[in-house]
Amino acid sequence: MEFRDLKKQYQVLKEDMDKAILDAVASGAYIMGQPVRELEKQLAEYVGVKHCLTCANGTDALTLALKAWGIGPGDAVFVPDFTFFSSAEVVPLEGAEPVFVDVCEETFNLDAADLERAVRAVLAEGRLRPRVVVAVDLFGLPADYKAIRAVADKYGLLILEDGAQGFGGTIDGKRACSFGDIATTSFFPAKPVGCYGDGGAVFTDNDEWAALIESYRVHGKGQFKYDNVRIGMNSRLDTVQAAVLQVKLKAFDEYELADINLAALQYTKRLKDIVATPVVPEGFLSSWAQYTIRLRDKAQRDALQAALKAEGIPSMVYYPKPMHLQTAFAGLTRNLCPIATSLCDRVLSLPMHPYLTTEQIDTVCTAIRKAL
Ligand SMILES: *Cc1c(COP(=O)(O)O)cnc(C)c1O
Repeated sequence: MEFRDLKKQYQVLKEDMDKAILDAVASGAYIMGQPVRELEKQLAEYVGVKHCLTCANGTDALTLALKAWGIGPGDAVFVPDFTFFSSAEVVPLEGAEPVFVDVCEETFNLDAADLERAVRAVLAEGRLRPRVVVAVDLFGLPADYKAIRAVADKYGLLILEDGAQGFGGTIDGKRACSFGDIATTSFFPAKPVGCYGDGGAVFTDNDEWAALIESYRVHGKGQFKYDNVRIGMNSRLDTVQAAVLQVKLKAFDEYELADINLAALQYTKRLKDIVATPVVPEGFLSSWAQYTIRLRDKAQRDALQAALKAEGIPSMVYYPKPMHLQTAFAGLTRNLCPIATSLCDRVLSLPMHPYLTTEQIDTVCTAIRKAL
């Protein structure tokens, strides 16, 4: 069994995919070709924002947003303690300081009450200026933007939505990557919509920020490529990857998002009486980048993972270490984030993708019931 079966997906999409890739190769326009511009239009329309700018990966997408806002030394950027490293890594790259915020036990997402506590602590200390909150749509579930927006407005923070795992999720029908002042996503192969290499995108309704990001992603270009008005990056999406994504986005929209939600429903039905299954709040839809259960403690989680492995069932611990305990952040003020820290010991992500069969879900659930 595969954890995320990308080979099976390719077999299903093979005809369209092979044609799209070969057309891109035959076109000769390998950088910023027609499919890149088309895809950006399709993505902006799907998400429901004015501008989409693709780039080289989801980490660069976050960096481009921080650059557009001029985030730098003396700025505090609030980041959930339970996330992938990139969400925080980009902050010191710009010379700013990440301040870690605890998450909610049931949704794994940023706790707006703890965000307010952290902002007030930074203000009281007086060393840093609160500027941005990175709200991560972890495991496919959009963060609680209503609560986060209330805190952000109160303290003048910009919201950077890290939708690397959230693409396709919704709140009251409004799509992920439209909630932040700027939002980003990743097209790393295992994400809800992935390409066949690295890729990413930035979304915003703001014309000025979009123009800055367009410049930053191509060496800080001005009027044309060899007129450079600021220090930028080389962060573009390849034409071939854009062609791959056009095929993937169509399948995602037509049936994959619906099918992965059916898989989640089956897991939850069969597991909810023996483990803590993922919680999707009223009005929210997840795109299930991961299906993550919570166990009693580390011993129970590790034993379950070993039992699944013995039956040939892959599972992953996302994430084993909170941000505030990462060696790379050892010099920072250590906000204690007890929930994030505890989740790292208790979470386990199960095989999850739109092509999972009922038999496979049965096999996983039977093995879990047996082990517990
Ligand atoms: C994957 C991921 C990123 C980074 O995306 P890349 O394309 O791998 O650079 C950022 N944030 C989160 C939450 C992610 O899961």
